[in-house]
Amino acid sequence: MPQAESGSAVPNSAATLFIDGAWVPATAGGTRDITSPADGSPVATVAEATSDDTEHAIAAARRAFDEGSWANTSAWERGDLLLRVSDILVRDREEFARAESLDTGKRLVESGYDMDDIAGCFRYFGKLAGTDAGKLVDTGSPDAISRVQYEPVGVCGMITPWNFPLLQVAWKVAPAIAAGDTFVLKPSELTPSTAILLMRALAEAGLPAGVGNLVLGTGAEVGSVLAEHPDIDLVSFTGGLHTGRTISAAAAPTVKKVALELGGKNPNIVFADADFETAVDYALTAVFLHSGQVCSAGARLIVQDEIHDALVDEIVRRAETIRLGGPFDEDAETGPLISDGHLRKVTDYVERSVAEGAVLRTGGRRPDGERYARGHFFLPTVLDEVQRGSFAVTEESFGPVLTVERFTDEDDAVRIANDTHYGLAGGVFTGDPAKAQRVANRMRHGTIWINDFHPYLPQAEWGGFKQSGIGRELGRAGLGEYQEPKHVYQNL
Ligand code: NAD
Repeated sequence: MPQAESGSAVPNSAATLFIDGAWVPATAGGTRDITSPADGSPVATVAEATSDDTEHAIAAARRAFDEGSWANTSAWERGDLLLRVSDILVRDREEFARAESLDTGKRLVESGYDMDDIAGCFRYFGKLAGTDAGKLVDTGSPDAISRVQYEPVGVCGMITPWNFPLLQVAWKVAPAIAAGDTFVLKPSELTPSTAILLMRALAEAGLPAGVGNLVLGTGAEVGSVLAEHPDIDLVSFTGGLHTGRTISAAAAPTVKKVALELGGKNPNIVFADADFETAVDYALTAVFLHSGQVCSAGARLIVQDEIHDALVDEIVRRAETIRLGGPFDEDAETGPLISDGHLRKVTDYVERSVAEGAVLRTGGRRPDGERYARGHFFLPTVLDEVQRGSFAVTEESFGPVLTVERFTDEDDAVRIANDTHYGLAGGVFTGDPAKAQRVANRMRHGTIWINDFHPYLPQAEWGGFKQSGIGRELGRAGLGEYQEPKHVYQNL
């Protein structure tokens, strides 16, 4: 049976909002039950905040920024704090990974790898903090000095999704602390557990009261307040394109800064001269990792005509051998979708694609068998011969669905890969390094992998071209999102 381990994912489920340094329940007394996507079993009961709780949290973050001792900390001190957080995450790796797997249904081993990356993210920003205080600027005059210094933006609202719950949180919280900001975090209402554990770790590492606040609840009740509120200086959002547009519009009247990490419909180009086995292996993990619930999933296979049949046949054969299961099933290779609603969305996506002419080669439905009956499982799916510009290649399914398009030559491959309003990531498989570089340079996407798929580095910027987002996370630019450059000119 694919099933979640029993027990609560979080230590204290009655009071799981963290506001002004204290664990509190929702003022209206609301709670939400979290259930396992793998089998529907109870995982945790957490507080469900209202807009009033959100107002309290914003006020606490505002006070901590304007009046507290936080403003007087040096970047080095804040960096040390982040390094302590990283150590706590390493120490508590198994507890965090288990909570993440219970909430998401993701395999425990994958949650463990995510924890390594999350600890690495805190370590990276811990070491980056204070290394770049600003710059001297040549005034052209011996009677004047001029410098540009980096100051915190202020109070940040952070809104994050459910697919990599703590990783997406870490990419915002770590640079915000490094920069000297304060924040109110709203994780996805479906996967709150590891955000709760992180607040515990931040408090243990010495984050002052009010600097980091956690409000659990829905986008409509909590997220919208963060987007609109005049006391929020920056709203940093990761999630779907439609929600990103709504948040942008809600933020506009207060002209707050907006950082958006949105979806992707990511091309994976395979040339005929690619190593066949390598291309097959990566094409499968590119799209079926975490059941396709990855913003950078390689969901569009763009394959050169002469190897189309052989490559797709082999991908279909291998896709049919992928074992589905719950987070603690040791033989599982991929897990369930996050919710019943998402399962319906992916099912509708496949049905509409087929109605528009796509050829369903495998999958397209829930797996048979009692072991999958209570979870949100969906079979690895391959849709061949999809038409350019059709629904199947333009819309994100965010599920385990690979679409296949053919190309003739290099120009054709680039044209197809760029024919999307998204621009998050893409892959190129070829045995010709010069061709790989030419194609990578012409692809309008924020990350390009050559003969690989999915690796990212905390020191390399992550983000989208076109409608995949605004701004960057990770890297020096990821810290810059949380800073305001200030020019100070002095006439001597
Ligand atoms: P979503 O947009 O439905 O929700 C994301 C967050 O926004 C949640 O916390 C939700 O409660 C909140 N929200 C919803 N409506 C809101 C509103 N009106 N105002 C304020 N907040 C609101 O996305 P999801 O389904 O949780 O995540 C999947 C999406 O996230 C996919 O499109 C995926 O591509 C994208 N994603 C992008 C990246 C990236 O790095 N670019 C990473 C992970 C996920």
